[in-house]
Amino acid sequence: MSFETLGLAKPLLRAVREAGYETPTPIQTQAIPSAIAGRDILGCAQTGTGKTAAFSLPILQRLDADPPDEPRIRALIVSPTRELAAQIGANIGSYAKHLELWHTVIFGGVKDKPQIAELRRGVDVLVATPGRLLDLMGRGHIDLKRVEVFVLDEADQMLDMGFLPDIRRIVKALPSKRQTLFFSATMPSAIKELAATLLDDPVEVAV
Ligand code: AMP
Repeated sequence: MSFETLGLAKPLLRAVREAGYETPTPIQTQAIPSAIAGRDILGCAQTGTGKTAAFSLPILQRLDADPPDEPRIRALIVSPTRELAAQIGANIGSYAKHLELWHTVIFGGVKDKPQIAELRRGVDVLVATPGRLLDLMGRGHIDLKRVEVFVLDEADQMLDMGFLPDIRRIVKALPSKRQTLFFSATMPSAIKELAATLLDDPVEVAV
């Protein structure tokens, strides 16, 4: 299997090559074609399996194929910790280097002014931890009404950290018509129940 056969556009193939990736990982092989086709994904995969590229590459491809006049939040990736959010942001930066798309990362524990300034400039892809996201939404700095793709990353860790009420509030602010990509390292019943409320006829992938 090669990245070329997964259906990725040329600027993404180039970025992936420049990142030093030669062959897709199993989660990428399983998830990328379905995600590009617009399907919801229920992914059982841990960090280290290449899941960030599995959800980021299809998002970037979708947004690049249909560029809006002005940046607005079209993809939202919610991650439980600032380290993971920052890592996702760095990966997106490298995958998007040949595209005209903007992204930013917001998380708590740091000043919000620079994050607000970035949001004002306009972003296509927002990576966020739940608390800071809800804070900036509540203060009118973030509007999720036009999100096309929602990613919930590390869902089991989110629940363990008590983020379920936050996730529900975030999801309420999203359009019901959207693509949802849901990833969790484990699939206990609480996670399956949450997934069932968020996903529409998902393709299940597990590694
Ligand atoms: P992740 O599971 O998304 O945190 O990715 C784990 C690490 O694998 C990151 O450092 C990625 O840059 C790297 N990676 C992701 N996909 C590939 C690939 N297809 N080939 C080589 N490295 C990869």
